Amino acid sequence: MLVLSDLARQFQSMKDELLRKFGSFIESGAYIMGEHVALLEKSFAERIGASYAIGVGNGTDALILALDACGIGEGDEVITTPYTFFATAEAISRRGAIPVFADVDPLTYNLDPAHIEALITPRTKAIMPVHLFGQPADMDSINALAKQYGLLVIEDACQAFGAQYKGRQAGSLGTVACFSFFPTKNLGTMGDGGIVVTSDPELAAKVRQLRHHGSPRKYYHDTIGYNSRLDELHALILLSAMDRIEQWNEQRRSLASRYCQQLDGLPYLQLPYEPEAARSVYHLFCIGSEEREPITAMLRAAGVQTGVYYPCPLHLQKAYKHLGYQTGDLPVAEQLSTRLFAIPMHPFLTTAEQDYIISVLQAYRSLN
Ligand SMILES: *Cc1c(COP(=O)(O)O)cnc(C)c1O
Repeated sequence: MLVLSDLARQFQSMKDELLRKFGSFIESGAYIMGEHVALLEKSFAERIGASYAIGVGNGTDALILALDACGIGEGDEVITTPYTFFATAEAISRRGAIPVFADVDPLTYNLDPAHIEALITPRTKAIMPVHLFGQPADMDSINALAKQYGLLVIEDACQAFGAQYKGRQAGSLGTVACFSFFPTKNLGTMGDGGIVVTSDPELAAKVRQLRHHGSPRKYYHDTIGYNSRLDELHALILLSAMDRIEQWNEQRRSLASRYCQQLDGLPYLQLPYEPEAARSVYHLFCIGSEEREPITAMLRAAGVQTGVYYPCPLHLQKAYKHLGYQTGDLPVAEQLSTRLFAIPMHPFLTTAEQDYIISVLQAYRSLN
């Protein structure tokens, strides 16, 4: 089976280095909030071009802690996309705030700034764009609206380490940004992890306290916080991954451009669109088709894994029934949820394997 993301191959490629590092790590006796986390935070902030990075337990917590540090809570509204992983909106709801969904752009699949303004109310506190599938959202338009209405911008960059918008790193484009190190993310570890990035010293200090029980120093607690730290073990693994991520992202981009060249012109497929301002890192390679069912069935039969990201837009999730959205309210997101599917995309996919996947897709005989 050619899998969507080959984690075994990825970590195999780092195995010798990691085993060496694990040896001294075991002997060190320091497993929580030690030198590896501090080193990772420093180098992560530098790579993003922000002043501070604070390691936390996972990407969802990164969003919750960022919202909390921004003072967003009960009854506040946050405008976000319905076309993302559930955690984006879940984090808003966890704070007692209300996610307000704006429809997405049919080509980039990201939050469409044209739909945001009409949703702004006196209770709106922030806009939370997602850089979906590794492609940065239209941040100039989003930031302009935020500035005009005095809103914060919280980037959900969980799928987008190394993505760029007009030459600047995703994660440096808003008030605060959140990343996930879940294993399948383009920068992932062998478990859960996350990080919050900002250049605002007050926000950084708040997140730093919140992740550790609201504690500025041992056994003194200024606020009600969380237990959400990044483990030393994961920071150690991520430091090794950081040495390789640029090369991995380049490899993803070159595979993406090969897919696009070879699949161009097939009338039954819609290929990803990368705007001039964006450098996508192709966390996922998603293509669209009205014939998703037969195409994915054929790929499966040929030994190629596919995945649907995402089959149900967030405004139609059962968990959000109480918000009162109806089918038809956000037509672009709803249509994408019936059409898009991912095919294998990871830095260890060989060109021979990719050629095989391409040949299966080319051999498809359209129903139309
Ligand atoms: C993965 C992901 C999250 C959540 O990250 P976890 O580390 O799994 O908690 C949030 N938002 C988006 C867009 C994601 O892809």
